[in-house]
Amino acid sequence: MRRALLVALVLLGLPAALLLAGLALAGRVGPLAGLLVLLTVVAPAGLLLHRHFLRIERIEGALAQALASGTHAAERDSILTVEIESDSPLSGIVEAAKSLTRLQATLNETLSARVEAVGTVIENIPDPMLLLDGDAVVAGANRAARELLGGNSVGRGIAVTLRHPDVLKAVDKVLAGGEGYAVEMTMLVPVERSFAVRVEPLPSAGPDGSRALIMLHELTAMKRSEQMRADFVANASHELRTPLSTLVGFIETLRGPAKDDPEAQERFLEIMHEQSLRMARLVNDLLSLSRIELNEHTPPRHRADLRRILESAKATLDMQAGTREMHIELSLTADLPQVVGEEDELSQVVQNLIDNAIKYGRAGTAITIAAQRAEVLPAAFQKAPHGAVMLSVRDQGEGIAREHIPRLTERFYRVDKARSRDLGGTGLGLAIVKHIVSRHRGVLSIDSAVGKGSQFTVYLPAANPAPPAESSPGIQSEISAQSA
Ligand code: ADP
Repeated sequence: MRRALLVALVLLGLPAALLLAGLALAGRVGPLAGLLVLLTVVAPAGLLLHRHFLRIERIEGALAQALASGTHAAERDSILTVEIESDSPLSGIVEAAKSLTRLQATLNETLSARVEAVGTVIENIPDPMLLLDGDAVVAGANRAARELLGGNSVGRGIAVTLRHPDVLKAVDKVLAGGEGYAVEMTMLVPVERSFAVRVEPLPSAGPDGSRALIMLHELTAMKRSEQMRADFVANASHELRTPLSTLVGFIETLRGPAKDDPEAQERFLEIMHEQSLRMARLVNDLLSLSRIELNEHTPPRHRADLRRILESAKATLDMQAGTREMHIELSLTADLPQVVGEEDELSQVVQNLIDNAIKYGRAGTAITIAAQRAEVLPAAFQKAPHGAVMLSVRDQGEGIAREHIPRLTERFYRVDKARSRDLGGTGLGLAIVKHIVSRHRGVLSIDSAVGKGSQFTVYLPAANPAPPAESSPGIQSEISAQSA
């Protein structure tokens, strides 16, 4: 700044000094007078310039301080409040500097907010994501990645964190300048899990030195459902193949060796009839199951009268129970509320449960069916606005061993395959019950003890006790509160 002042003074004084020196040489002015004139010209100009230069110096210092300070506009404004007279040409510069730093502060704040928002999104993405630096060291990991690989994965080499040869090979290629790679990885501990892994180079190195991004997408559920679908097709074909081959065998026998044996024909036709009924039952159950699965995501919107459903199921199955000298006892409370549900589907639930009680209950015993408002609800039951109803079917059979209970609602799962088949079971009855109950936003609970019998309890959301006064004839009234 001093040099600038000196240069300005020299530039100002030099022409006057040269002029006065010329005049002095020409003898027009004396050297002393010349010097005095020069001083009266240069000194005030020097003083004026010095003041300006001092102000500029102060503005410069304040600007540097403001830029080095925090991002808050108010803080910067106070630093930039340099005392300058309002008529000074420099006051405009100070105002412009203030506006500029204010603008910069606003931009900084917006940018930080955006960076933070993006950080929050990445942190909460359910798929694990990792950033790697040029040495394949983990530079960052979102929450899903920390949960999967441990909280201390940041700062450690990827070879220690994700010990999978295909992933490491992909990382090496990407860090060596290659394009993105996709590989599949299976982790065996603590439980087997599969992931699709993508390794992508970053277009430019991040501020933390990150050079590549690893994204993992879990495939375990998809693979399991693929496996279940394949198992289901295999099971269903197997179930149909047995009665079909029996039928084919008997048809051949009837056309050949038993052609002229009316007694054998009668016996074989009886078996063929049974096998055809078995196939029909199986196909019906498969169709029911797929229909229910299609609707499972839309909860029912109608009212269903459990009393009517239970009384009608008892009337239908009393005779079947009689064949095993069993009897069905109904115990329904007087204030039994209606439920939110489809009557057809709930009838199927009740029929399947009573049918099992007849099949697996001890001959000559009672099957007790009870329904009442539920006071205590299982934890899995979603809160319903009008409470819940519980319906239970209890038998006095051999009961079910504890290890089988969680699997009973799987398709084709049977405790005793041969016995279920002999009794005409398809292995799909409880799977159908489970899907209907889950569509109704209810819960199925199974209690059983070997030697003591079993109790199947279904909890269903109760309907609004005060239904709309009028409903269109022939159309079941909708439950307005529940359908919301
Ligand atoms: P199934 O057609 O074989 O009866 P389900 O899906 O209805 O098929 O039942 C699955 C299995 O659960 C049955 O094979 C049987 O082993 C067991 N099970 C179902 N209900 C009862 C019951 N009330 N008592 C004992 N075991 C039962």
